[in-house]
Amino acid sequence: MELAPQLHRIGNDTIAAHLVLADDGITLVDTGLPGHYRDLVRELKALGRPLSDIKGVVLTHGDSDHIGFAERLRSELGIPVYIGAEDVERAKGAKPPPTPKDPRRIAPVIRFFAYAIAKGGFRTRPLQEVTPVHDGDVLPLPGSPRIIAMPGHSPGSVAVHMPAVRAVFVGDELTTRHVLTGTEGPQPAPFTDDQARSSESIDRLAGLDVDWVIPGHGAPWRGSTSLLITAYRLAERRPAGG
Ligand SMILES: [Zn+2]
Repeated sequence: MELAPQLHRIGNDTIAAHLVLADDGITLVDTGLPGHYRDLVRELKALGRPLSDIKGVVLTHGDSDHIGFAERLRSELGIPVYIGAEDVERAKGAKPPPTPKDPRRIAPVIRFFAYAIAKGGFRTRPLQEVTPVHDGDVLPLPGSPRIIAMPGHSPGSVAVHMPAVRAVFVGDELTTRHVLTGTEGPQPAPFTDDQARSSESIDRLAGLDVDWVIPGHGAPWRGSTSLLITAYRLAERRPAGG
């Protein structure tokens, strides 16, 4: 699905991954679940670009619904996979710590887990090899992704700023559609290790000159980061699940 000519999305508002297209190749931001591989192949075919155009994968964090087919691309095609240094072990299969209980409603929970199962959520392969990245790094990949450390959802969560497509990818540091309650709009994301730290990280988006703020779950946000941060701060003050 095309968000902009050089910015494409696979998956949907439940779980999404993104492609940034440049003349020198394609950078993927996150890889959803294993079953999204087929969506990737379909998307590339529609674009008339071969899999070998993918020059790298940048993971916003190491949770299983983001590392989906990354190991497949790495092991079969030698595509490098980058991730925040503090999330390397999680991407390699270390179990994340238990998170506080999130608000939930039955219908959205069923929708989320049904989609996750359909997309092979229980057969995600951990990464064997990754390249750790740090705050401020500019990666040698199409679109020149710049790393912004955003600890909180997980210790190694990062935002990926791509000036070429005027977008910042924020992973699960925030969501625009809570997968467990169905509530829409910018807000804290569920399954977050340290919400206080995550909330502080949100301010790191202030002042970025972008048209898109793109979460891993929920609709892409079209607009400034200042409006997004304002909406997030309002949501934060709502009672849980509201
Ligand atoms: Zn997620």
